[in-house]
Amino acid sequence: MKISVSNPGPIQPGSLVFLKSKTKRHLINNEWIESANSDPIPSLDPATGETLAYIQAGSKTDVDAAVKAARAAFKTGEWASMTPAARGKLLWKMAELIEANIDELAELETLDQGKPLYVGRWAEIPGAAEQFRYFGGMATKIQGATIPSSINYQPEGKKVFAYTSKEAIGVVAAIVPWNSPLVLTAMKLAPALAAGCTVVLKPAENTSLTAIRLGELFIDAGFPPGVLNIITGYGHTAGAALAAHMDVDKVSFTGSTNTGRAILDSAKGNMKKVTLELGGKSPVVILGDADLDLAIPGAANAIFFNGGQVCIAGSRLYAHRSVFDKVVDGVSEAASAMKLGHGLNPTTQMGPLVSAVQADSVSGFIERAKKAGASIVTGGERDNCFISPTVIADVKQSMEIVQEEVFGPVITCTAFDDISEVTDLSNNSQYGLAASIWTESLSSAHRLAADIRAGTVWINSHAMYDASLPIGGMKQSGWGRDSGAQAIENYLEEKTVCAII
Ligand code: NAD
Repeated sequence: MKISVSNPGPIQPGSLVFLKSKTKRHLINNEWIESANSDPIPSLDPATGETLAYIQAGSKTDVDAAVKAARAAFKTGEWASMTPAARGKLLWKMAELIEANIDELAELETLDQGKPLYVGRWAEIPGAAEQFRYFGGMATKIQGATIPSSINYQPEGKKVFAYTSKEAIGVVAAIVPWNSPLVLTAMKLAPALAAGCTVVLKPAENTSLTAIRLGELFIDAGFPPGVLNIITGYGHTAGAALAAHMDVDKVSFTGSTNTGRAILDSAKGNMKKVTLELGGKSPVVILGDADLDLAIPGAANAIFFNGGQVCIAGSRLYAHRSVFDKVVDGVSEAASAMKLGHGLNPTTQMGPLVSAVQADSVSGFIERAKKAGASIVTGGERDNCFISPTVIADVKQSMEIVQEEVFGPVITCTAFDDISEVTDLSNNSQYGLAASIWTESLSSAHRLAADIRAGTVWINSHAMYDASLPIGGMKQSGWGRDSGAQAIENYLEEKTVCAII
Protein backbone atom coordinates (compact mmCIF):
# COMPACT_ATOMS: atom_id res chain seq x y z
CA MET A 1 0.00 0.00 0.00
CA LYS A 2 1.46 3.36 -1.09
CA ILE A 3 0.54 6.35 1.08
CA SER A 4 1.59 9.94 0.69
CA VAL A 5 1.30 11.85 3.95
CA SER A 6 2.97 14.89 2.41
CA ASN A 7 0.67 17.90 2.34
CA PRO A 8 0.88 21.63 1.83
CA GLY A 9 -0.37 22.19 5.41
CA PRO A 10 -3.23 24.50 6.26
CA ILE A 11 -3.06 27.59 4.08
CA GLN A 12 -6.31 29.40 4.81
CA PRO A 13 -5.67 32.47 7.02
CA GLY A 14 -8.71 31.55 9.15
CA SER A 15 -7.40 28.01 9.80
CA LEU A 16 -3.99 29.35 10.77
CA VAL A 17 -5.52 31.77 13.27
CA PHE A 18 -7.84 29.08 14.66
CA LEU A 19 -5.03 26.54 15.08
CA LYS A 20 -2.67 29.07 16.63
CA SER A 21 -4.54 29.02 19.94
CA LYS A 22 -4.13 25.39 20.96
CA THR A 23 -6.57 25.27 23.89
CA LYS A 24 -10.22 25.14 22.89
CA ARG A 25 -13.00 25.72 25.38
CA HIS A 26 -16.69 24.98 25.92
CA LEU A 27 -19.19 27.55 24.67
CA ILE A 28 -21.71 28.55 27.35
CA ASN A 29 -23.79 31.73 27.13
CA ASN A 30 -21.62 32.96 24.23
CA GLU A 31 -18.50 32.75 26.40
CA TRP A 32 -15.59 30.37 26.01
CA ILE A 33 -15.24 28.54 29.31
CA GLU A 34 -12.64 26.12 30.67
CA SER A 35 -13.90 22.81 32.00
CA ALA A 36 -14.37 22.02 35.67
CA ASN A 37 -12.20 19.02 34.72
CA SER A 38 -8.56 19.99 34.12
CA ASP A 39 -7.55 17.11 31.84
CA PRO A 40 -7.94 18.23 28.18
CA ILE A 41 -8.22 15.82 25.24
CA PRO A 42 -5.72 16.12 22.35
CA SER A 43 -7.29 16.49 18.91
CA LEU A 44 -5.06 14.68 16.42
CA ASP A 45 -4.46 14.78 12.68
CA PRO A 46 -5.00 11.06 11.95
CA ALA A 47 -2.75 11.15 8.87
CA THR A 48 0.33 12.33 10.79
CA GLY A 49 -0.47 11.86 14.49
CA GLU A 50 0.26 15.57 15.06
CA THR A 51 -1.68 17.27 17.89
CA LEU A 52 -3.77 20.05 16.36
CA ALA A 53 -5.35 21.39 19.55
CA TYR A 54 -6.63 20.37 22.98
CA ILE A 55 -10.35 20.29 23.71
CA GLN A 56 -12.03 20.33 27.11
CA ALA A 57 -13.12 17.00 28.61
CA GLY A 58 -16.59 18.08 29.69
CA SER A 59 -17.88 16.99 33.08
CA LYS A 60 -21.36 16.79 34.60
CA THR A 61 -20.75 20.23 36.15
CA ASP A 62 -20.07 21.69 32.67
CA VAL A 63 -23.17 20.00 31.27
CA ASP A 64 -25.27 21.42 34.12
CA ALA A 65 -24.00 24.94 33.36
CA ALA A 66 -24.70 24.59 29.62
CA VAL A 67 -28.22 23.23 30.19
CA LYS A 68 -28.92 26.05 32.64
CA ALA A 69 -27.86 28.61 30.02
CA ALA A 70 -29.98 26.91 27.34
CA ARG A 71 -33.02 26.80 29.65
CA ALA A 72 -32.67 30.47 30.55
CA ALA A 73 -32.39 31.49 26.88
CA PHE A 74 -35.43 29.35 26.04
CA LYS A 75 -37.60 30.83 28.79
CA THR A 76 -36.85 34.53 28.75
CA GLY A 77 -34.93 37.17 26.86
CA GLU A 78 -34.16 37.96 23.27
CA TRP A 79 -34.46 34.46 21.77
CA ALA A 80 -37.66 33.56 23.63
CA SER A 81 -39.41 36.65 22.28
CA MET A 82 -37.83 36.72 18.82
CA THR A 83 -40.20 36.59 15.82
CA PRO A 84 -39.99 33.56 13.52
CA ALA A 85 -38.83 35.89 10.71
CA ALA A 86 -35.94 37.14 12.83
CA ARG A 87 -34.95 33.55 13.73
CA GLY A 88 -35.05 32.68 10.04
CA LYS A 89 -32.79 35.62 9.22
CA LEU A 90 -30.22 34.47 11.79
CA LEU A 91 -30.21 30.97 10.32
CA TRP A 92 -29.79 32.43 6.83
CA LYS A 93 -26.89 34.48 8.14
CA MET A 94 -25.27 31.28 9.42
CA ALA A 95 -25.53 29.79 5.91
CA GLU A 96 -23.77 32.88 4.56
CA LEU A 97 -21.04 32.77 7.21
CA ILE A 98 -20.39 29.07 6.56
CA GLU A 99 -20.07 29.80 2.85
CA ALA A 100 -17.83 32.80 3.49
CA ASN A 101 -15.52 30.53 5.53
CA ILE A 102 -15.95 27.40 3.43
CA ASP A 103 -12.29 26.83 2.53
CA GLU A 104 -11.18 27.23 6.13
CA LEU A 105 -13.93 24.92 7.48
CA ALA A 106 -13.10 22.27 4.86
CA GLU A 107 -9.42 22.47 5.76
CA LEU A 108 -10.11 22.12 9.49
CA GLU A 109 -12.42 19.16 8.87
CA THR A 110 -9.73 17.44 6.80
CA LEU A 111 -7.04 18.02 9.40
CA ASP A 112 -9.20 16.80 12.30
CA GLN A 113 -11.08 13.94 10.59
CA GLY A 114 -8.73 12.88 7.80
CA LYS A 115 -11.16 13.16 4.88
CA PRO A 116 -9.90 14.36 1.47
CA LEU A 117 -10.36 18.10 1.12
CA TYR A 118 -12.80 17.76 -1.80
CA VAL A 119 -15.26 15.83 0.40
CA GLY A 120 -15.60 18.72 2.82
CA ARG A 121 -15.14 21.53 0.31
CA TRP A 122 -17.64 20.35 -2.30
CA ALA A 123 -20.08 18.11 -0.41
CA GLU A 124 -20.22 18.42 3.36
CA ILE A 125 -19.56 22.09 4.16
CA PRO A 126 -21.90 23.36 1.39
CA GLY A 127 -24.38 20.76 2.69
CA ALA A 128 -24.10 22.28 6.17
CA ALA A 129 -24.78 25.78 4.81
CA GLU A 130 -27.83 24.46 2.93
CA GLN A 131 -29.28 22.99 6.14
CA PHE A 132 -29.31 26.47 7.69
CA ARG A 133 -30.81 28.03 4.58
CA TYR A 134 -33.47 25.33 4.15
CA PHE A 135 -34.64 25.40 7.78
CA GLY A 136 -34.20 29.18 7.98
CA GLY A 137 -37.00 29.35 5.41
CA MET A 138 -39.17 27.08 7.55
CA ALA A 139 -39.07 29.23 10.70
CA THR A 140 -41.96 31.30 9.32
CA LYS A 141 -43.99 28.29 8.18
CA ILE A 142 -44.64 26.51 11.48
CA GLN A 143 -48.41 26.31 11.60
CA GLY A 144 -51.22 24.61 13.43
CA ALA A 145 -54.68 23.89 12.06
CA THR A 146 -58.29 24.65 12.85
CA ILE A 147 -60.21 21.42 13.29
CA PRO A 148 -63.91 20.92 12.54
CA SER A 149 -64.62 18.53 15.44
CA SER A 150 -67.80 16.46 15.75
CA ILE A 151 -68.31 17.08 19.47
CA ASN A 152 -72.03 17.41 20.10
CA TYR A 153 -72.35 17.73 23.88
CA GLN A 154 -71.63 21.46 24.23
CA PRO A 155 -74.24 23.56 26.05
CA GLU A 156 -77.30 24.58 24.06
CA GLY A 157 -76.55 27.54 21.75
CA LYS A 158 -72.76 27.21 22.06
CA LYS A 159 -70.22 26.14 19.49
CA VAL A 160 -66.95 24.21 19.70
CA PHE A 161 -63.88 25.92 18.32
CA ALA A 162 -60.77 23.69 18.19
CA TYR A 163 -57.32 24.34 16.85
CA THR A 164 -53.75 23.13 17.19
CA SER A 165 -50.55 25.10 17.60
CA LYS A 166 -46.94 23.99 17.34
CA GLU A 167 -44.58 24.93 20.15
CA ALA A 168 -40.82 24.56 20.42
CA ILE A 169 -39.98 21.46 22.43
CA GLY A 170 -37.48 23.27 24.68
CA VAL A 171 -33.83 22.47 25.44
CA VAL A 172 -32.33 20.05 22.90
CA ALA A 173 -29.24 17.90 23.42
CA ALA A 174 -27.60 17.35 20.02
CA ILE A 175 -25.02 14.54 20.11
CA VAL A 176 -23.10 13.85 16.90
CA PRO A 177 -20.42 11.44 15.61
CA TRP A 178 -17.04 11.95 13.98
CA ASN A 179 -17.50 10.84 10.39
CA SER A 180 -19.03 13.99 8.89
CA PRO A 181 -18.90 16.35 11.85
CA LEU A 182 -20.07 19.72 10.53
CA VAL A 183 -22.87 18.64 8.21
CA LEU A 184 -24.31 16.21 10.80
CA THR A 185 -24.18 19.01 13.38
CA ALA A 186 -26.02 21.36 10.99
CA MET A 187 -28.69 18.68 10.45
CA LYS A 188 -29.53 18.97 14.16
CA LEU A 189 -28.98 22.68 14.84
CA ALA A 190 -30.82 24.14 11.85
CA PRO A 191 -34.27 22.56 12.45
CA ALA A 192 -33.98 22.82 16.25
CA LEU A 193 -33.23 26.55 16.09
CA ALA A 194 -35.79 27.20 13.33
CA ALA A 195 -38.37 25.69 15.70
CA GLY A 196 -37.28 28.10 18.45
CA CYS A 197 -35.47 25.57 20.68
CA THR A 198 -32.15 26.16 22.39
CA VAL A 199 -29.35 23.61 22.09
CA VAL A 200 -26.48 22.01 23.96
CA LEU A 201 -24.23 20.39 21.34
CA LYS A 202 -21.83 17.54 22.16
CA PRO A 203 -19.52 16.90 19.20
CA ALA A 204 -17.47 13.69 18.99
CA GLU A 205 -14.33 13.73 21.13
CA ASN A 206 -11.99 13.19 18.18
CA THR A 207 -13.53 15.74 15.77
CA SER A 208 -14.72 18.78 17.73
CA LEU A 209 -12.77 21.50 15.93
CA THR A 210 -15.28 22.55 13.27
CA ALA A 211 -18.06 22.59 15.90
CA ILE A 212 -15.98 25.02 17.96
CA ARG A 213 -15.31 27.17 14.88
CA LEU A 214 -19.06 27.04 14.14
CA GLY A 215 -19.66 28.33 17.68
CA GLU A 216 -17.48 31.35 16.86
CA LEU A 217 -19.54 31.96 13.73
CA PHE A 218 -22.76 31.73 15.76
CA ILE A 219 -21.53 34.58 17.95
CA ASP A 220 -20.53 36.57 14.83
CA ALA A 221 -24.00 35.97 13.34
CA GLY A 222 -25.59 37.58 16.39
CA PHE A 223 -27.30 34.65 18.12
CA PRO A 224 -28.19 35.67 21.70
CA PRO A 225 -26.32 34.03 24.61
CA GLY A 226 -27.46 30.55 25.62
CA VAL A 227 -29.09 29.65 22.27
CA LEU A 228 -26.19 27.41 21.20
CA ASN A 229 -23.93 25.94 23.87
CA ILE A 230 -21.14 23.50 23.10
CA ILE A 231 -19.75 20.95 25.54
CA THR A 232 -16.84 18.91 24.22
CA GLY A 233 -15.66 15.66 25.75
CA TYR A 234 -16.14 11.92 25.93
CA GLY A 235 -19.40 10.12 25.29
CA HIS A 236 -19.48 8.10 28.51
CA THR A 237 -19.06 11.26 30.62
CA ALA A 238 -20.20 14.49 28.90
CA GLY A 239 -22.53 12.74 26.42
CA ALA A 240 -24.11 10.47 29.04
CA ALA A 241 -24.61 13.39 31.48
CA LEU A 242 -26.34 15.38 28.74
CA ALA A 243 -28.58 12.51 27.62
CA ALA A 244 -29.62 11.84 31.22
CA HIS A 245 -30.07 15.49 32.25
CA MET A 246 -33.48 16.03 33.84
CA ASP A 247 -33.83 19.53 32.34
CA VAL A 248 -33.19 18.49 28.73
CA ASP A 249 -36.44 18.00 26.79
CA LYS A 250 -35.12 16.21 23.73
CA VAL A 251 -32.07 14.26 22.59
CA SER A 252 -31.28 14.29 18.91
CA PHE A 253 -28.57 11.70 18.42
CA THR A 254 -26.52 10.48 15.48
CA GLY A 255 -24.09 7.65 16.09
CA SER A 256 -23.83 3.91 16.49
CA THR A 257 -26.74 1.62 17.25
CA ASN A 258 -25.14 0.51 20.54
CA THR A 259 -24.78 4.09 21.76
CA GLY A 260 -28.36 4.71 20.58
CA ARG A 261 -29.47 2.01 23.04
CA ALA A 262 -27.49 3.69 25.85
CA ILE A 263 -29.13 7.03 24.95
CA LEU A 264 -32.57 5.44 25.25
CA ASP A 265 -31.71 4.19 28.74
CA SER A 266 -30.37 7.60 29.78
CA ALA A 267 -33.36 9.45 28.35
CA LYS A 268 -36.01 7.54 30.26
CA GLY A 269 -35.47 9.43 33.58
CA ASN A 270 -37.61 12.39 32.49
CA MET A 271 -39.08 10.62 29.41
CA LYS A 272 -37.33 13.08 27.11
CA LYS A 273 -38.18 12.76 23.43
CA VAL A 274 -35.54 11.01 21.32
CA THR A 275 -34.54 10.98 17.66
CA LEU A 276 -31.92 8.39 16.68
CA GLU A 277 -29.92 8.27 13.45
CA LEU A 278 -27.92 5.06 13.79
CA GLY A 279 -25.77 2.56 11.95
CA GLY A 280 -26.25 0.90 8.59
CA LYS A 281 -25.17 -1.99 6.40
CA SER A 282 -26.60 -0.83 3.11
CA PRO A 283 -26.99 -3.16 0.12
CA VAL A 284 -25.93 -2.16 -3.40
CA VAL A 285 -27.99 -4.33 -5.75
CA ILE A 286 -26.79 -4.67 -9.36
CA LEU A 287 -29.23 -6.48 -11.66
CA GLY A 288 -28.18 -8.30 -14.83
CA ASP A 289 -29.47 -5.50 -17.08
CA ALA A 290 -27.68 -2.65 -15.24
CA ASP A 291 -25.59 -0.10 -17.11
CA LEU A 292 -22.26 -1.35 -15.74
CA ASP A 293 -20.43 1.80 -16.85
CA LEU A 294 -22.53 3.57 -14.22
CA ALA A 295 -22.98 0.77 -11.71
CA ILE A 296 -19.34 -0.27 -11.21
CA PRO A 297 -17.93 3.18 -10.38
CA GLY A 298 -21.18 3.84 -8.49
CA ALA A 299 -20.66 0.77 -6.30
CA ALA A 300 -16.99 1.68 -5.69
CA ASN A 301 -17.92 5.22 -4.73
CA ALA A 302 -20.76 3.97 -2.50
CA ILE A 303 -18.22 2.28 -0.23
CA PHE A 304 -14.93 4.15 -0.64
CA PHE A 305 -16.22 7.74 -0.36
CA ASN A 306 -14.90 9.17 2.93
CA GLY A 307 -13.09 5.86 3.53
CA GLY A 308 -16.39 4.05 4.07
CA GLN A 309 -16.96 6.09 7.23
CA VAL A 310 -20.45 6.95 6.09
CA CYS A 311 -23.64 5.67 7.74
CA ILE A 312 -25.20 5.07 4.31
CA ALA A 313 -22.06 3.43 2.84
CA GLY A 314 -22.92 0.66 0.38
CA SER A 315 -21.03 -2.08 2.20
CA ARG A 316 -22.87 -5.16 0.87
CA LEU A 317 -22.65 -5.66 -2.88
CA TYR A 318 -25.14 -8.06 -4.46
CA ALA A 319 -24.58 -8.56 -8.20
CA HIS A 320 -26.57 -10.81 -10.55
CA ARG A 321 -24.60 -13.95 -11.35
CA SER A 322 -24.50 -13.01 -15.07
CA VAL A 323 -22.45 -9.87 -14.31
CA PHE A 324 -20.91 -10.82 -10.95
CA ASP A 325 -17.31 -11.43 -12.10
CA LYS A 326 -17.26 -8.28 -14.21
CA VAL A 327 -18.62 -6.19 -11.31
CA VAL A 328 -16.19 -7.60 -8.74
CA ASP A 329 -13.25 -7.10 -11.13
CA GLY A 330 -14.37 -3.52 -11.85
CA VAL A 331 -14.87 -2.54 -8.21
CA SER A 332 -11.52 -4.17 -7.30
CA GLU A 333 -9.72 -2.27 -10.07
CA ALA A 334 -11.24 0.98 -8.82
CA ALA A 335 -10.17 0.06 -5.26
CA SER A 336 -6.57 -0.70 -6.13
CA ALA A 337 -6.27 2.45 -8.26
CA MET A 338 -7.23 4.77 -5.38
CA LYS A 339 -4.60 7.20 -4.18
CA LEU A 340 -4.24 7.17 -0.40
CA GLY A 341 -2.71 10.09 1.41
CA HIS A 342 -3.09 13.15 3.57
CA GLY A 343 -6.46 14.77 2.92
CA LEU A 344 -4.85 18.14 2.20
CA ASN A 345 -2.81 16.66 -0.63
CA PRO A 346 -4.84 17.55 -3.75
CA THR A 347 -4.21 14.13 -5.37
CA THR A 348 -5.61 12.19 -2.39
CA GLN A 349 -8.75 10.17 -3.09
CA MET A 350 -8.94 8.43 0.29
CA GLY A 351 -7.54 9.67 3.59
CA PRO A 352 -6.79 7.84 6.82
CA LEU A 353 -9.55 6.55 9.08
CA VAL A 354 -10.38 8.91 11.88
CA SER A 355 -8.19 7.24 14.52
CA ALA A 356 -5.96 4.29 15.34
CA VAL A 357 -8.86 2.85 17.35
CA GLN A 358 -11.07 2.87 14.24
CA ALA A 359 -8.28 1.37 12.10
CA ASP A 360 -7.84 -1.39 14.75
CA SER A 361 -11.54 -2.08 14.60
CA VAL A 362 -11.66 -2.25 10.78
CA SER A 363 -8.57 -4.46 10.47
CA GLY A 364 -10.06 -6.73 13.17
CA PHE A 365 -13.16 -7.22 10.98
CA ILE A 366 -10.97 -8.04 7.95
CA GLU A 367 -8.85 -10.57 9.86
CA ARG A 368 -11.90 -12.31 11.33
CA ALA A 369 -13.52 -12.46 7.86
CA LYS A 370 -10.39 -14.19 6.50
CA LYS A 371 -10.45 -16.70 9.37
CA ALA A 372 -14.14 -17.37 8.66
CA GLY A 373 -13.26 -18.38 5.07
CA ALA A 374 -13.79 -15.17 3.08
CA SER A 375 -11.19 -14.17 0.47
CA ILE A 376 -9.65 -10.77 0.02
CA VAL A 377 -9.84 -9.85 -3.67
CA THR A 378 -7.88 -6.65 -3.11
CA GLY A 379 -6.79 -4.48 -0.18
CA GLY A 380 -6.92 -5.60 3.44
CA GLU A 381 -3.68 -3.84 4.39
CA ARG A 382 -3.16 -1.43 7.24
CA ASP A 383 -0.57 1.29 7.92
CA ASN A 384 -1.19 3.37 11.06
CA CYS A 385 -4.63 4.96 10.53
CA PHE A 386 -4.79 3.99 6.84
CA ILE A 387 -6.64 0.91 5.56
CA SER A 388 -6.44 0.09 1.87
CA PRO A 389 -9.76 -0.11 -0.02
CA THR A 390 -10.83 -3.71 0.49
CA VAL A 391 -13.02 -5.99 -1.62
CA ILE A 392 -14.06 -9.30 -0.04
CA ALA A 393 -15.59 -12.31 -1.82
CA ASP A 394 -16.56 -15.87 -0.87
CA VAL A 395 -18.71 -14.63 1.96
CA LYS A 396 -21.77 -16.24 3.52
CA GLN A 397 -24.73 -14.08 4.51
CA SER A 398 -24.40 -15.19 8.14
CA MET A 399 -20.77 -14.01 8.47
CA GLU A 400 -19.94 -11.11 10.77
CA ILE A 401 -18.42 -9.18 7.83
CA VAL A 402 -21.80 -9.26 6.04
CA GLN A 403 -23.95 -8.61 9.09
CA GLU A 404 -22.05 -6.00 11.16
CA GLU A 405 -21.30 -2.38 10.32
CA VAL A 406 -17.53 -2.11 9.67
CA PHE A 407 -17.49 1.67 9.10
CA GLY A 408 -14.40 1.54 6.91
CA PRO A 409 -13.48 0.98 3.23
CA VAL A 410 -14.61 -2.66 3.10
CA ILE A 411 -17.20 -4.17 0.74
CA THR A 412 -18.45 -7.74 0.58
CA CYS A 413 -19.57 -9.29 -2.73
CA THR A 414 -22.30 -11.91 -3.19
CA ALA A 415 -23.89 -13.28 -6.38
CA PHE A 416 -27.66 -13.80 -6.71
CA ASP A 417 -29.94 -15.42 -9.27
CA ASP A 418 -33.31 -13.66 -9.03
CA ILE A 419 -35.08 -10.64 -7.61
CA SER A 420 -36.84 -12.44 -4.78
CA GLU A 421 -33.50 -13.89 -3.61
CA VAL A 422 -31.79 -10.49 -3.60
CA THR A 423 -34.76 -8.91 -1.82
CA ASP A 424 -34.36 -11.46 0.98
CA LEU A 425 -30.58 -11.02 1.08
CA SER A 426 -30.92 -7.22 1.23
CA ASN A 427 -33.45 -7.45 4.05
CA ASN A 428 -31.45 -10.05 5.98
CA SER A 429 -29.90 -7.44 8.30
CA GLN A 430 -30.64 -5.80 11.61
CA TYR A 431 -30.18 -2.47 9.80
CA GLY A 432 -32.46 -0.63 7.37
CA LEU A 433 -30.81 2.69 6.62
CA ALA A 434 -30.32 2.82 2.84
CA ALA A 435 -29.97 0.79 -0.36
CA SER A 436 -29.21 1.33 -4.02
CA ILE A 437 -30.57 -0.53 -7.02
CA TRP A 438 -28.86 -0.52 -10.39
CA THR A 439 -30.98 -1.61 -13.37
CA GLU A 440 -32.42 -0.36 -16.67
CA SER A 441 -35.79 -1.95 -15.85
CA LEU A 442 -38.30 0.51 -14.42
CA SER A 443 -40.48 -2.20 -13.00
CA SER A 444 -37.62 -4.14 -11.30
CA ALA A 445 -36.31 -0.88 -9.84
CA HIS A 446 -39.62 0.14 -8.29
CA ARG A 447 -40.50 -3.38 -7.15
CA LEU A 448 -37.22 -3.61 -5.28
CA ALA A 449 -37.54 -0.04 -3.98
CA ALA A 450 -40.88 -1.03 -2.45
CA ASP A 451 -39.67 -4.36 -1.04
CA ILE A 452 -36.33 -3.37 0.47
CA ARG A 453 -36.77 -2.28 4.09
CA ALA A 454 -34.65 0.87 4.16
CA GLY A 455 -35.22 4.54 4.96
CA THR A 456 -33.76 5.66 1.61
CA VAL A 457 -33.51 3.80 -1.69
CA TRP A 458 -31.55 5.19 -4.62
CA ILE A 459 -32.02 3.99 -8.19
CA ASN A 460 -28.95 4.08 -10.44
CA SER A 461 -27.13 6.22 -7.86
CA HIS A 462 -26.00 6.04 -4.24
CA ALA A 463 -25.81 8.65 -1.49
CA MET A 464 -27.56 11.46 -3.37
CA TYR A 465 -29.03 13.71 -0.72
CA ASP A 466 -29.58 17.29 0.30
CA ALA A 467 -31.41 19.25 2.96
CA SER A 468 -34.81 18.61 1.33
CA LEU A 469 -34.60 14.78 1.48
CA PRO A 470 -35.49 12.96 4.71
CA ILE A 471 -32.74 10.64 5.94
CA GLY A 472 -33.06 8.01 8.62
CA GLY A 473 -33.52 4.35 9.21
CA MET A 474 -35.93 1.48 9.57
CA LYS A 475 -35.26 -1.41 11.97
CA GLN A 476 -32.19 -0.84 14.18
CA SER A 477 -30.97 2.05 12.03
CA GLY A 478 -32.96 4.51 14.07
CA TRP A 479 -36.05 6.40 15.06
CA GLY A 480 -37.25 9.39 13.05
CA ARG A 481 -35.70 11.32 10.20
CA ASP A 482 -33.26 14.21 9.87
CA SER A 483 -33.48 16.64 6.89
CA GLY A 484 -36.58 17.22 4.82
CA ALA A 485 -39.53 19.39 5.78
CA GLN A 486 -40.84 17.07 8.48
CA ALA A 487 -37.54 17.13 10.44
CA ILE A 488 -38.68 20.36 12.07
CA GLU A 489 -41.41 18.30 13.79
CA ASN A 490 -38.60 16.60 15.79
CA TYR A 491 -38.30 19.87 17.67
CA LEU A 492 -41.98 20.80 18.04
CA GLU A 493 -44.81 19.76 20.35
CA GLU A 494 -48.36 19.90 19.05
CA LYS A 495 -50.92 21.50 21.37
CA THR A 496 -54.68 21.08 20.93
CA VAL A 497 -56.89 23.92 22.13
CA CYS A 498 -60.60 23.15 22.35
CA ALA A 499 -62.96 25.97 23.34
CA ILE A 500 -66.68 26.40 23.85
CA ILE A 501 -67.61 29.76 22.40
P1 NAD B 1 -20.71 6.66 18.68
O1 NAD B 1 -22.08 6.14 18.92
O2 NAD B 1 -19.57 5.98 19.31
O3 NAD B 1 -20.60 8.18 19.14
C1 NAD B 1 -21.48 9.18 18.65
C2 NAD B 1 -21.54 10.32 19.66
O4 NAD B 1 -22.11 9.82 20.87
C3 NAD B 1 -20.18 10.89 20.05
O5 NAD B 1 -20.31 12.28 20.26
C4 NAD B 1 -19.88 10.18 21.38
O6 NAD B 1 -19.01 10.89 22.21
C5 NAD B 1 -21.28 10.11 21.97
N1 NAD B 1 -21.46 9.04 22.96
C6 NAD B 1 -20.80 7.87 23.09
N2 NAD B 1 -21.28 7.16 24.14
C7 NAD B 1 -22.27 7.89 24.68
C8 NAD B 1 -23.18 7.71 25.77
N3 NAD B 1 -23.14 6.61 26.52
N4 NAD B 1 -24.10 8.66 26.03
C9 NAD B 1 -24.17 9.77 25.26
N5 NAD B 1 -23.33 10.02 24.23
C10 NAD B 1 -22.41 9.09 23.93
O7 NAD B 1 -20.59 6.72 17.10
P2 NAD B 1 -19.31 7.10 16.26
O8 NAD B 1 -18.38 5.94 16.31
O9 NAD B 1 -18.85 8.46 16.65
O10 NAD B 1 -19.95 7.23 14.79
C11 NAD B 1 -20.13 6.18 13.93
C12 NAD B 1 -21.55 5.68 13.97
O11 NAD B 1 -22.47 6.74 13.64
C13 NAD B 1 -21.79 4.61 12.93
O12 NAD B 1 -22.54 3.57 13.50
C14 NAD B 1 -22.61 5.33 11.85
O13 NAD B 1 -23.40 4.49 11.06
C15 NAD B 1 -23.42 6.26 12.70
N6 NAD B 1 -23.93 7.36 11.87
C16 NAD B 1 -25.26 7.37 11.56
C17 NAD B 1 -25.77 8.38 10.72
C18 NAD B 1 -27.23 8.40 10.33
O14 NAD B 1 -27.69 9.42 9.80
N7 NAD B 1 -27.98 7.34 10.55
C19 NAD B 1 -24.91 9.37 10.23
C20 NAD B 1 -23.56 9.31 10.56
C21 NAD B 1 -23.08 8.30 11.39
